[in-house]
Amino acid sequence: MPTITCYGAVGKIGGNKILLEDGDARIFFDFGIDFDACGRYYNELLRPRPGRGLLDPLVLGLIPPLQGLYRKDLELPAVWARMRGNPLYRKLNRTGGRPAVDAILLSHAHLDHNGDVSYLDETIPIVCTRTGAAIARAMQVTGQPTLEREMVYASPRAEKGGIFGSARSESYQLRPYLFLEGALNAEARGYWEGAGSSRKGMQLAAADAFPGQIAGLTVRAWPVDHSIPGAVGYAVESSAGWVGYTGDIRFHGRRGGQTRAFAEALAALHPRALLCEGTHLESDPGRIGEEEILERVVPILERYAGKLAIADFGPRNVERLQVFLDAARATNRMLLLQPKDAYLLRALHRMEPELFPSPDSGSNVGLFDDPKSKPRAWEVETRAGWHAPIVHAGNVSEKPGEFILADSLWDLNDLPDLEGISGGVYLFSNSRAYDDEQKADLGRLRAWVQWLGLDLIGDPEDKSSRTLHASGHACGDELLEFVRTVKPEILIPIHTEHPEWWEDKLMGTGVEIRKPEVGKGIPV
Ligand SMILES: [Zn+2]
Repeated sequence: MPTITCYGAVGKIGGNKILLEDGDARIFFDFGIDFDACGRYYNELLRPRPGRGLLDPLVLGLIPPLQGLYRKDLELPAVWARMRGNPLYRKLNRTGGRPAVDAILLSHAHLDHNGDVSYLDETIPIVCTRTGAAIARAMQVTGQPTLEREMVYASPRAEKGGIFGSARSESYQLRPYLFLEGALNAEARGYWEGAGSSRKGMQLAAADAFPGQIAGLTVRAWPVDHSIPGAVGYAVESSAGWVGYTGDIRFHGRRGGQTRAFAEALAALHPRALLCEGTHLESDPGRIGEEEILERVVPILERYAGKLAIADFGPRNVERLQVFLDAARATNRMLLLQPKDAYLLRALHRMEPELFPSPDSGSNVGLFDDPKSKPRAWEVETRAGWHAPIVHAGNVSEKPGEFILADSLWDLNDLPDLEGISGGVYLFSNSRAYDDEQKADLGRLRAWVQWLGLDLIGDPEDKSSRTLHASGHACGDELLEFVRTVKPEILIPIHTEHPEWWEDKLMGTGVEIRKPEVGKGIPV
């Protein structure tokens, strides 16, 4: 009998690590970071020690104690002896060089779904979209070069006296990725397999079309709407019937129709079980979609004609970036990208040229040249390959009304270079603060905006300010409709703080609810 074991996303949002076992097949749906557990012990500065490999995340329970699942070059000899007493400990035995699990099916490239791939045995195949892979690679390249960002290629470590350091002579190890839309073309492959400007080589691995089966089980995927491009939901045909997995979904973005088509396709399979997200179960009458953000932003920009506009939206929210690009076009401004955004858009273009035009081909887009004493290799490369205008702080100070500057909390410290921008507007297009740390960040942001002399619009805690944000998640009514359409025999509520919410909602529908417990297999 197949079993589903949730090692994350149980009673909380994110950290999805869901193991499906059927016969000798083992497949994970996602392998993301549990930000809730991480935040209990760590913050931006206090991090797990890379020098101790798997020890810190294992003993603190940030990754499940499944021996055989992780990179061998991060294992201290004694670490598994120490974990053996843990109630979740299991040894995932395998013979014949087969990895401990047959594949990781990634739904999308948010870190709460793909971040802990960094720790996994680098021979485990990763299934995802080319778009999702491009985003993960861009995050790895442009992020801090830490162990926690090795989702696409691993930097081998060597142990000496119980401490891991980088094995300098060894090449990076590319992980085997299988792309749902098919194989890479030559240009994409060149980018994917390249080691950038690093002198280390790249040890290559599979970068092929996903063959449609994993360990003898048929796997299907459908594009869905979420706040990041390249998101999919899955279904795996187990020996007990189809098992569906939503990943994160919504219906009110520009690709909402895809999520509806996903529901119809799942329904046609008459699934045995469905793993369904439940991030926002309350109904939200004030909710808006991406198109409405555009409708709200354009008149604001017109009102602030001649003045600078700063647009603050989530990293990798390419759809929102597109909204601001459309707004720039409509108001004859130029959207100035941060180098990180430019690198990401270029990566998307190289991996998926048909979906993502070259970022520097439009007439309303420029690159903001933030001053750096020591730019990293990817920053030099991004500037050198950029064909649209490169705009300095001085240019913005001269003609602030010609620009929308893309920005985030992490880019605020470039703003003291701008002069004469007071009277402009700061458009906050992000979600509300969910925890104390985010509340403190929002406080810091307000202080910056005030110091710059800008008006803040979209402050989620200011009732008089209209929102400029569209959630990445469906609301409860929509999810209920989704589950009623799919009509699984068993519903496993994940990625929610309220798994019990479903109970009376599905009463009498014939859908049985099985609430997951961490590490406890659910037979299906
Ligand atoms: Zn999520």
